[in-house]
Parts: sequence; C-alpha cells; structure tokens
Amino acid sequence: MKLHEYQSKFLFREFGIPIPNGQVAQTPEAAAAIASQLGVPVVVKAQVHVGGRGKAGGVKLARDADEARRYAADILGMDIKGLVVQQVLVDPGADIQQEIYLAITNDRGAGCPLIMSSLEGGMDIEELNRSRPAAIIREHIDPTLGLNGFQTTHIASAMGLPRAHWRSFGQILWSLYRCYIESDAELAEINPLVITGEGELLAVDGKVIIDDNALFRQPKLAAQRDDSGEPESESLARAAGISYIKLDGQIGCMVNGAGLAMTTMDMTKLYGDADHIGPANFLDIGGGASPQQVAAALRIILSDAKVQCVLINIFGGITRCDEVADGILTAYNEVQPNVPMVIRLQGTNASEGNAIISQAQIPNIISAQTLTQAAKLAVAAVKERA
Ligand code: GDP
Ligand code: MN
Repeated sequence: MKLHEYQSKFLFREFGIPIPNGQVAQTPEAAAAIASQLGVPVVVKAQVHVGGRGKAGGVKLARDADEARRYAADILGMDIKGLVVQQVLVDPGADIQQEIYLAITNDRGAGCPLIMSSLEGGMDIEELNRSRPAAIIREHIDPTLGLNGFQTTHIASAMGLPRAHWRSFGQILWSLYRCYIESDAELAEINPLVITGEGELLAVDGKVIIDDNALFRQPKLAAQRDDSGEPESESLARAAGISYIKLDGQIGCMVNGAGLAMTTMDMTKLYGDADHIGPANFLDIGGGASPQQVAAALRIILSDAKVQCVLINIFGGITRCDEVADGILTAYNEVQPNVPMVIRLQGTNASEGNAIISQAQIPNIISAQTLTQAAKLAVAAVKERA
C-alpha cells in the first residue's frame, strides 16, 4: 500500500526525521491560508501516487499566498499520468544546496533490506541508476543484526558526503531504518534529502510503501489508504477477498490457484502474442469457488472494458466442478456478460460440471477439454471480435 508524500513525511517526523513544517489543502483558498500562516515562500505539491510530479508540473514554488492560491488552482484537478490531483501539500520552500537520494528497500534476491544512497539525488534517480550505477552506494543490512554504526559511516564516506554532515546523516539513516522496520515498509525513500543553506539536512520528498501482508498489524497506516488512483477492478477484488491484478490484454482469466492462474496467462500469451492478444488479468478465486465468489470474480473481470473474452480454467481438487458449474450459471444470469466465455473444468466431478454447462445451452459459452484447447479458443474468440 502506497502512502502519499505528506503521509510518508508525517510518518518520518514520528521517527525523528526533520521535514518541512507544511500542511495539506484541498482548495486553493486553503492553500493560500497555509501559505500566509507560514509567511514564507512555499512549494505547492500535488499529492498523487506517481513519481516524477516535478517534471509533470505538479510541484511549484510560490513567492506568496496569492501565488500559492494560483498554483494550487492549477494543480488541483490536474491529471498526472492518469491520476487526478485532489489535494496539495503546501510546504515552506527549502533553500536547497544539494539533493541526496536515500532509500531502504527489500532486496528480494539477497533476502534482506538494502540501503541505497547517492549525492546525486533529485529527479532523475532511475536515469542515474542506468547511466552511472556506481554513483549509488548500496549496503545490505542483516535484519537479525540491524543497522550498525560502521555501516552508516561507510555509506556517508563512500558517497562522498562532506564530514560536517555525517552525524546528522547517520541519525536520519538510523531513523529511516527504524521507520522501515517498525512500519513493515517494503520501501522507505527520501528523494531528495537536501542540504540547506544553513547546513541542515531536511527530507523534502518522501515515499513509503507498506507491505500489504502486514497491514493487519499496522491499523494506523492501513487507515490512511487512498484508493482514488487505483483501477476500480482492483478495489472490487480487495473487497471480495479475491487476489487480482489488472494487466493490459483482452482475455479475462478466472482460475483457482495462483500457479494454475499463471500457467493460464502464459498459455494465452503463447497462442496470442503474435496477434498482440494476451491475459487481461491475474485472478485467483481461491478455494471453494462458491457461486457468490464466481459471480464476484466475473464482475471484476468484466469491469475492465478491454476484456473481449473470459477464460475460466478450474481444476477441481477439494473444489467440485459441478458446484463451480452451478456458480458459473448463477453468475452468468446475474452478470449477463456480452463477451464469449471459454470454460474448462477438470478434476473432481468434471463430467457432472461439464454436463451442467452444456445442458444450460447458453450460446456464447464454449467448452474446452484441455488448457491448450481453451487458450486457443479464447485467442480465436478475441480475434473474431476485433
Ligand atoms: P517528485 O518530482 O515527484 O519526486 O517531487 P519532489 O518533491 O522530489 O520535487 C521535485 C523537485 O522539486 C525536487 O527535486 C527539488 O529540486 C524541487 N523542490 C521540491 N521542494 C522544493 C523546495 O522546497 N525548494 C526548492 N527550491 N525546490 C524544491
Ligand atoms: Mn522526489
């Protein structure tokens, strides 16, 4: 779960990381009021779940309250990479001498946290990572030992940070590590961490992503969720307890079991890729596959307007195919899809399940025996509709 910049920085403040003393506004008037209360030049910053807001025009420096009002009016309602800005952060402007990149993330390959730090922070860290990866210092942390003093010193020295800042940099890194661990974050990033004209370090931007699997024990963070930028289908899926990830293809996949779901996606790609046809989603309806669950899954798949065909691939283990077939018919009657559905039922009570489907005699339901056949039929159905 992503936190907004302001949520990330307010969290940083709880861990003792210095941040600008700003506030959030939903209207230009509120932005102007915050600016005049601060009484200094301010930055007006779009709060949306995407990076690169600065380059997109979502970060503006305003000299006074009037200008803050005008910039807030420009930025509120602005579309940044498909997300509409609904709030802005109004921060006192920082006097920036140097922009540092500092982040802690999960390194899945190494199986431990990774600290990344660079004196060349700011807006183009991905580009820096491509062109001069050596400019980013990387340090793995053994999670059982935690962060050590010698590691913060090593990072500060290896990145070429002037000695005068080592102490406060070390404290900030220490706080960021605690924040990352105690918040169950998978990313805690400050970009930029700036050195100001007075020689202080200040976290000017913040980005925190919380591990979804830990949200049950992070109720304070979970309550800060803002779904407004999320595809509607993903919000519906979370509410129904279905694991679903939207992709870009045309074949909506309804499968039980994550491994079978991925195999099904691969098969549609194998037979469809040459014609730019592929999976519209990952979806695992989980065990049981009750009629309600099947109907919910079907609604979620069909809420994606790109879907041209639904491929249902169910392996009956504990799940019984006749029950799934009943579920599919109930869901069909309820949802009334206007795209063809290819159905493959295998395993426990498969013949009963297939009999139920064929007896229903629904015109745009196509039965398949094997996964190969199902994938080919789904690809053909999409081509026919193109
Ligand atoms: P991002 O583009 O979404 O990463 O947004 P940032 O918050 O990182 O802002 C982008 C850039 O705007 C920063 O790298 C800074 O160069 C600049 N910026 C942000 N806040 C301030 C500020 O308070 N003062 C000044 N002078 N520049 C700022
Ligand atoms: Mn940034």
